[in-house]
Amino acid sequence: MSVADKVCLNHTDRAASNLCLSCRKPVCEDCVVESDGSHFCSATCAEGHARTNANMEVYRGKKKGGFLSLIIKLAIIGAIVYFGWQYKDQIMNMINKK
Ligand SMILES: [Zn+2]
Ligand SMILES: [Zn+2]
Repeated sequence: MSVADKVCLNHTDRAASNLCLSCRKPVCEDCVVESDGSHFCSATCAEGHARTNANMEVYRGKKKGGFLSLIIKLAIIGAIVYFGWQYKDQIMNMINKK
């Protein structure tokens, strides 16, 4: 996507240098707001984008070491213990039958 043929959101006589990462509006070098190496049309867009990223990191963190994974781990351990017992009983039965 080229910004060469677009004009700034605030200066209709100026060529846009960047597109806002958040709302995709074109802005010139004077209007562009830089945040974390990305370009935005306004501080509001930069903040909104940063907030989205922060939320995503929180979400990822929850998925990684959250309550749900603890439940899954316990379920797996429980299943191993349960089937271990089942297997043990089968062996015991086989030995007893002989
Ligand atoms: Zn924007
Ligand atoms: Zn401008």
